[in-house]
Amino acid sequence: MTFKIGDITIDRIEESCDIGSLPHVDFPDATPEALAPYMDWLKPFAIDPVSGGTIMPVQTYLVRTRHHTILLDTCVGHDKNHKDFPDWNQRSDYRLIEDLAAAGVTPEDIDFVLCSHLHLDHAGWNTQLIDGRWVPTFPNARYLFCQEELDFAEEEGAKGDTVYAESVHPVLEAGQGQIVAMDFALDDSIWLEPTAGHTPGHVATHITDGGQRAVMAGDLIHHPFQLPHPEWSPIYDWNPVMGAKTRRRFLESVAETDILVMTQHFPAPSSGHVFSRGSGFGMRYHGCDMVHG
Ligand SMILES: [Zn+2]
Repeated sequence: MTFKIGDITIDRIEESCDIGSLPHVDFPDATPEALAPYMDWLKPFAIDPVSGGTIMPVQTYLVRTRHHTILLDTCVGHDKNHKDFPDWNQRSDYRLIEDLAAAGVTPEDIDFVLCSHLHLDHAGWNTQLIDGRWVPTFPNARYLFCQEELDFAEEEGAKGDTVYAESVHPVLEAGQGQIVAMDFALDDSIWLEPTAGHTPGHVATHITDGGQRAVMAGDLIHHPFQLPHPEWSPIYDWNPVMGAKTRRRFLESVAETDILVMTQHFPAPSSGHVFSRGSGFGMRYHGCDMVHG
């Protein structure tokens, strides 16, 4: 799926779209009773009618401006290992790289990689395993990292998480990392917004050109049922209270604006315009007539 923000071209490229756990396993507040009022639009779009599990893609956004070719998040990747997500271990396909090629982009063309945060499904293709060594997948890219997120990923690594060792440290070692502030502006068109909560250094990425605006929300929101209930934090939020506050503040800031919100884990089309609805929010999805809320 390709769309434009002014002269900037954005491709949404999906690596996978799996059916996950029952909602309350990851979102303790999302009980069957609490979800019942929303099931008419959640199924089959974002909840599997057969298993009842959440439907959540893993994807990247390829952003091409006049000056830069940028990847926003890099999915799960290849050959990775993670004790908590065995289903994502040792993925062996090159789907993301093939889909980039289909969009006319080689790994050499990417000049910036921007991870919303350093979880395994957002930083995986940062590196690839070549002859037993992790090396940056995008040899000409600067990988932008916020110090807060690097510190967190390193701490998690010390507790056994593999992301720092496999997908972050090799980039720093290769001299391709650039430490930036959480409100860093790459240029007039691309800048970061601090959105801590899911992780300490989580950022959203704003994109603007020709009077049009978009923002890539990363994992500050995971699932469409958090639109009516932004207070429902997943168990994988580093600070669930802060996560809920950040989610509500962010949704308030984009509601009733022309800002296109690009999510990471909502099913396709994944993007839309947010509006207020009661004590929560709804979304008018991009490029179709689907409206939730
Ligand atoms: Zn994620």
